[in-house]
Amino acid sequence: MMIEVLCRLWDRIHPNSQPYQRGCRACGQCCDLYGGYLHASDADLERWRRLGREDLLRLVNEVGWIWIDPKQGRRGQPCPFLQRISPEEARCGIHEIKPDMCRDYPSLDHGRHCVRGIYIPRPAPPKESILH
Ligand code: SF4
Ligand code: SF4
Repeated sequence: MMIEVLCRLWDRIHPNSQPYQRGCRACGQCCDLYGGYLHASDADLERWRRLGREDLLRLVNEVGWIWIDPKQGRRGQPCPFLQRISPEEARCGIHEIKPDMCRDYPSLDHGRHCVRGIYIPRPAPPKESILH
């Protein structure tokens, strides 16, 4: 929290400076690495039920792990909603309703730093990428 306050203060003092290593680059590396090891929250499940997203609910196993192909029943498969545009750019195909784990990544447990070591502030600024 403190680091976010300091970053905002820095932006206010230096409004024209380019932020260095801050904010999601929408590269999809975190989705590539962790997309097969996600868990749905109760809020996710309720949201998807309310929206009638059977296509998502079908990929939730009995203990809440998600993106599990019911035929294979295995974790660790690539997230089916990651849309790779180029080696450096990707999009989430369910951005508006994506799981809380994705929305909250990188959490405070990670010091808000993603797998690339980039600081991802919260709440995300309006112009933030489509992935986080
Ligand atoms: S959080 Fe980091 S690894 Fe994930 S898409 Fe953004 S820049 Fe890439
Ligand atoms: S649901 Fe979206 S944000 Fe989450 S791993 Fe898949 S592509 Fe990435």
